[in-house]
Amino acid sequence: MAVPKRKTSRARKLKRRAHDGLTEAQRCRCTRCGDWTLPHSVCENCGHYRGRALLPVEGF
Ligand SMILES: [Zn+2]
Repeated sequence: MAVPKRKTSRARKLKRRAHDGLTEAQRCRCTRCGDWTLPHSVCENCGHYRGRALLPVEGF
């Protein structure tokens, strides 16, 4: 089995992990109520997705 010749330094390890951070989830506007929602998911504000009511929400 291949074995690393040297111990990975702390600086090298941290540089490698500089790109590992999570990014904010993508958001898009609901076409019905204009609220921000996750793409390809039912709007939590009005309960609609692609023009269809899928969740019972008061007020709509
Ligand atoms: Zn909505």
